[in-house]
Amino acid sequence: MNLHEYQGKELLKSYGVAIQEGILAESVEGAVSAFNKLREETGTAFAVVKAQIHAGGRGKGGGVKLVKNEAELRTTAGNILGMMLRTPQTPGGMEGPGKLVKKILVTEDAYRPDFDACKEFYVSILMDRERKSNVIIYSTEGGMDIEAVAENTPHLLHKEYIDPELGLLGFQTRKIAFNLGLSGKAFKEMVKFISKLYNAFTGSDSSLFEINPCLKTADDRIVAVDCKVTLDDNALFRHPDLAAQRDTDEEDATEVEARSYGLNYVKLDGNVGCMVNGAGLAMATMDIIKLSGGEPANFLDVGGTADAARVEQAFRIILRDPNVKAILINIFGGIVRCDRVAQGVVDAYKNMGNIEVPIIVRLQGTNADIAKKIIDESGLAVHSAILLQEAADLVKEVVG
Ligand code: GDP
Ligand code: MN
Repeated sequence: MNLHEYQGKELLKSYGVAIQEGILAESVEGAVSAFNKLREETGTAFAVVKAQIHAGGRGKGGGVKLVKNEAELRTTAGNILGMMLRTPQTPGGMEGPGKLVKKILVTEDAYRPDFDACKEFYVSILMDRERKSNVIIYSTEGGMDIEAVAENTPHLLHKEYIDPELGLLGFQTRKIAFNLGLSGKAFKEMVKFISKLYNAFTGSDSSLFEINPCLKTADDRIVAVDCKVTLDDNALFRHPDLAAQRDTDEEDATEVEARSYGLNYVKLDGNVGCMVNGAGLAMATMDIIKLSGGEPANFLDVGGTADAARVEQAFRIILRDPNVKAILINIFGGIVRCDRVAQGVVDAYKNMGNIEVPIIVRLQGTNADIAKKIIDESGLAVHSAILLQEAADLVKEVVG
């Protein structure tokens, strides 16, 4: 689950990480009062208007603008609120439809009073699966062109791996501050910044933090000017306050609906829909589909209770994808009996009435033979299989 910039900054602030201060607004009047409040509280002369959408590169698309007075703020806030913002990261990129901006963050001008005395760094934290540890990636080349840095001058990106047993150690934060070329007050501030940032990362069970730019201000403070936060969905139950911040408008509509049924669904680009119980079996099934020459259209774990209602919800979700040319149902009947699932499939199929793609059902486990009989005798265009290989051959047959 992704957070908006304003939500991510609140999270950072609650861990004592210094941020570019800002106030959320949903109207021009709201933006004006936010500006006035920021002027009083921070002494900022200018303000920055920042579109709140789940995509980076907003600056490039005109979604981040510095304004020098109230009149400029009114015009800019009016323009950005309600705009379809295209950035290199919105669906379809700069040629795509863009994303509707419903909220803006009005912030202090963190680069005051001397823009040229500021320095933009890049700092991110994520998990490195191969090294089985978290890694802090950082660079002196922060700002809007970090993708180009990664591509053309990757040696300018430094990595610091963190031993999960030991946590982030003092010498590591100092090494980071040193490699960023800092000294004196800015060095100490960076050490504090990194260690608090890392606490925020582990404390919130995040899977990604990206602070770009991480700014050294003219008076040598270190502040997060932007932040991208991705929380680990599997740890959300430990953070109800963060879970409540989900903005479903920013997410894939089908995935949101699937979640409301308790289905674990991820849309993919292939042509064979799959309905499976258990994440491990779901992944193995996707491998089988690939080996038989198809491409999985989705990942879908229906969980432990594959009854008729659930199977029907899963069917509807899968069939919403026009690319689906066949559906492979692969259920292991352990606690749930195969004959129940088979009946569920038959009932759901009849209920929906308009399923035009071939369906291959492979049921294995308790009462698998009875299940096969139920499917074969239903008279529906459902192919049944007990062995995975049979199922794979059927997939091959129907997707050519
Ligand atoms: P992104 O384009 O979506 O990554 O949005 P950012 O929050 O990173 O903002 C884009 C750019 O706007 C930054 O790289 C800065 O150059 C600029 N910017 C952001 N905040 C300020 C600010 O307070 N003052 C000034 N002068 N520029 C800012
Ligand atoms: Mn940014």
